[in-house]
Amino acid sequence: MVTIGMPRALLYYDCAPTWNNFYRILGANVVVSPATTKTTIDAGVSLCVDDACLPVKIYFGHAVALAPLVDFLFVPRLVSIERGKYLCPKFLGLPDMVKAVLGERVRMITPTVDLSKSDRAIYRAVLTAASPITKNPVRTIAAWQACRRQESSSSASSQPEPESKVHVGVLAHPYIIKDAALSFGILEKLNEMGVQAILDDHPKFDADLPGTLQPGRRIFWTHEDRIYAAGMTMASTGAVDGIIVVQAFGCGPGSMIFDLLIRKFRREYSVPALTLSIDEHTGEAGIVTRLEAFVDMLLRTARGCS
Ligand code: SF4
Repeated sequence: MVTIGMPRALLYYDCAPTWNNFYRILGANVVVSPATTKTTIDAGVSLCVDDACLPVKIYFGHAVALAPLVDFLFVPRLVSIERGKYLCPKFLGLPDMVKAVLGERVRMITPTVDLSKSDRAIYRAVLTAASPITKNPVRTIAAWQACRRQESSSSASSQPEPESKVHVGVLAHPYIIKDAALSFGILEKLNEMGVQAILDDHPKFDADLPGTLQPGRRIFWTHEDRIYAAGMTMASTGAVDGIIVVQAFGCGPGSMIFDLLIRKFRREYSVPALTLSIDEHTGEAGIVTRLEAFVDMLLRTARGCS
């Protein structure tokens, strides 16, 4: 049986369930790297170029840990995952960067996913992705369609949300905030402080809400478009008492969109906002101190103290 390795980083948090299921339907064994640890971070930082953001460095830590355990590493070249929008250029160059570092240590599967013009472009990517297991297009497309059918029939059950006095919107790339080691467990810490964190991918922040820069114009990048739409909706509807932005130091798309959002929060909505910038030198104590001070301020406001 062919074993495929999935690094638990970057688009893993958006796309992994689909690809994992696809490979399992095809009869492959899928191995996902364990959750990020200090060892993963140190390995990634030592392998990757200094200029890259921490999420990309961490990807290398996951990839190198998987390499000896698998027949192939799955490293798609992600150009676009939805019509008319694109991913950060780091996602495009990822297979080349990983190849340059791991060399012959592992074989890679690197389908190009570019759905910017047509959803049907996925079929080319799917055929490439399946090629180490089967070259039969009928079997491959049938597996993909079965995978999509299973996805659409498994309805996401929404969990009841705990009651809390204070609601905080958290704006961040999913691969930062959902990786507890990378984000210093901010979500768990907020929960322990009695704060209800609301992420930008919450279903209530529909992408068609008032998130456009100008009527009819969307932001070029997929994640930033969603973050902007959710952030503007949170602020303009009063759905949250404060907003925390968590961004990777040196993130190009984030530096533009997050800065724009923070200015709007302050000028147009007077919503308190905290920005946390993360890289490999960030210390947990500094993050916790700022988080506690911010939450304390929100709790005092909620209690009517000035
Ligand atoms: S969007 Fe920012 S954080 Fe994400 S990969 Fe690109 S530079 Fe890194």
